[in-house]
Amino acid sequence: MSSNSTKSKIGFIGLGAMGLPMAKRVVAAGYGLCTTFHRRREPADELRTMGAEVVATPKDVATAADMVITILPADAELREVVFGSAGILKTFTSGKMLVEMTTGTARTMQEIAAAIDSVGGDTLDAPVSGGTPAAAQGTLTIMAGGDSAALERCRPLLETMGTRIVHVGPVGQGKVVKIINQMMAAIHLLAIGESFALGVKCGADPEVLYEVIKNSSGYSKMMDLRLPGFLFEGSFPPGFKLDLMKKDVNLALESARAAGIPLHLSSEVAQVFAAASAAGKGNEDFSAAAQFLASLCGVQLNSTKDKSA
Ligand code: NAD
Repeated sequence: MSSNSTKSKIGFIGLGAMGLPMAKRVVAAGYGLCTTFHRRREPADELRTMGAEVVATPKDVATAADMVITILPADAELREVVFGSAGILKTFTSGKMLVEMTTGTARTMQEIAAAIDSVGGDTLDAPVSGGTPAAAQGTLTIMAGGDSAALERCRPLLETMGTRIVHVGPVGQGKVVKIINQMMAAIHLLAIGESFALGVKCGADPEVLYEVIKNSSGYSKMMDLRLPGFLFEGSFPPGFKLDLMKKDVNLALESARAAGIPLHLSSEVAQVFAAASAAGKGNEDFSAAAQFLASLCGVQLNSTKDKSA
């Protein structure tokens, strides 16, 4: 570990839509950063031009760093980065810290924390919300699961990426809280898709619906996040990929199965996301699922006109 007078060296693994802007903020705050690449080299090269070191594998990142941040698509990729033949566990030693920011399961998070603990390291479970704009601006909400000492050790680093850092409980609870947010976000999105489809079918202008409902009881923040710029434009550049939201809704269903409770709305939502993904929309922004649902009614939400066939 570095002394208190010098900043820790940060490892960063997962340079996607979220990870790259988050890593840039860490570098801009004056931390030394070590990263690696996966499939595409360009994001790592972009960080290299800002002064980051680029190494071949996750285990090389863990060798170089005091604290390692991971933000990967899902559990499978995270397990590979941690437990794989070139994974961080190969070189993770006493005193190092894993800050794990993927949206994944509590079970995998706890398994990883136990493995890190067995080599003398610490883990903070720290998934995020706010999307790519908040990642770029450093205004993410960070749901921190872990002991208070681990959180306080990471806090200055987390503050380079987020403005709301909430201690939600022990390791695994970050994942739980994040999944609950995701299931609500997915339900709100499809509530907009289905309700606006009926409105448009009955002759309402979608922009008028938004204007009225944003000050009424049907409002959700999802309207501000995904009507302008996405549904009103009929344009779905990610953002947050539809297949990632499909994964998150399925995480909620898996958790419910394990807890022995039914999830009626999320089960329906999962079917819509599965159908939209099967129709080829998995790499579009997740808001394409609302237009997909409206399309089943013959409605385009980017138009004041009913485009039913
Ligand atoms: P993304 O698909 O854009 O990025 C994932 C990155 O991980 C890619 O760069 C990929 O190359 C890299 N990767 C995959 N396997 C790897 C491996 N074995 N080694 C090294 N790198 C590897 O996804 P994203 O949108 O950045 O999301 C990342 C996580 O954050 C997901 O769990 C997602 O659910 C969550 N999240 C996303 C958003 C959003 O708005 N995009 C918001 C909050 C949370």
